[in-house]
Amino acid sequence: MTGRHLLMIPGPIELEPDVLAALATKTRSHLDPEFVDVLGRALGRVREVLLAPSCQPFVVPGSGTLAMELAANTVIERGDAALVIDTGFFSARMATMLERIGARVTRVSAPLGRAPDLAEVERALAGGGFRAITITHVDTSTGVRAPVRELAALARAHDVLSVVDGVCSAGAEELRQDAWDVDIVLTASQKALGAPPGLAVLAMSKRAIEHARARRTARPGREVPSLYLDALEWLPIMQAYEARSPAYFATPAVNLVQALDVSLGQLIAEGMDARVARHQRIARALRAGLATLELEIVADEAVASSTITAVRYPSGVDVGLIAAVRDEGVVLAAGLHPAIKTTSFRIGHMGAISPSDLLATLGAIERGLARRGGRVDLGAGVAAAQRALAIA
Ligand SMILES: *Cc1c(COP(=O)(O)O)cnc(C)c1O
Repeated sequence: MTGRHLLMIPGPIELEPDVLAALATKTRSHLDPEFVDVLGRALGRVREVLLAPSCQPFVVPGSGTLAMELAANTVIERGDAALVIDTGFFSARMATMLERIGARVTRVSAPLGRAPDLAEVERALAGGGFRAITITHVDTSTGVRAPVRELAALARAHDVLSVVDGVCSAGAEELRQDAWDVDIVLTASQKALGAPPGLAVLAMSKRAIEHARARRTARPGREVPSLYLDALEWLPIMQAYEARSPAYFATPAVNLVQALDVSLGQLIAEGMDARVARHQRIARALRAGLATLELEIVADEAVASSTITAVRYPSGVDVGLIAAVRDEGVVLAAGLHPAIKTTSFRIGHMGAISPSDLLATLGAIERGLARRGGRVDLGAGVAAAQRALAIA
């Protein structure tokens, strides 16, 4: 039965059969016209999924962390000041990266489970001097969704470049790069984009690219120290493929790109608005079920994400719950945020997730709680989720 476990973690996620099938097709030359067409089409689809027709898409072998680093190195160089909106684990990682580059980092930290205070961000920006602001759209360690539209507008008003880590949001939460004037959106293949792990996906505004170009011209010898992390090295390659001609900088992950292209095609066929609405409906029903089981959700309801939910263990129950739920057929993730690492678990609910997956998950959590000696009214969480699904 090991193959039948339902993967409900914040990436990698359950994949659609057609996406998996694309992995098992012939590995072509990266210069083969058929592959050129696949990567070219995938890049165009990135524009559609991120609602970023005016931006430059990138698909680069690597994980979400690589995407973060590519974005950081595009906007920030040694000596620059950066403002990190700190909502949890991955914001902290971004701050570390910026510090490694040699940036002076200021943090505006949100209390655990809450959104950042816009007035505090505004005050920090008004202090002036920032080159860039970084925002984690959905913080994977708390399940909090940050107000990207408002934060990006503040950044723009202060002439500061905005970088949005959309690894846990892009493809499931409302994210409109062009309309919200976000300079860089970065994500990865294995979360809400519904493909296997292994690809960093980004879209950069004209402003971000111009910034990188101007910096290279103004300060020869102070280019991005890493060739791989220099967006200007990848830029002509991405432009060539999108124009359906081959080019080489570093070998694309051919089969992964094939799978990503299929998955992005599915996202677009569903429609971004419909996709956002489906994730909201399922996430709301999940929270209704968890609340009925008297499990405390880490994120405030108003800012609770549609892709991941962090939940505190009830009294008397510990991390052993995860193994018990796995024995019941559903794979959950342990806590990640340092403050709640051992006292919370996480449920990922993005991608092709259906109401049935949600009910199976809640059922397995109920049985796991019963096995681990938790107080549980078997079926109550599932029933509450059913009612929420039936009215929405
Ligand atoms: C998963 C995640 C990352 C890191 O992605 P990897 O593919 O694990 O390197 C970065 N930011 C956020 C918000 C994430 O959820």
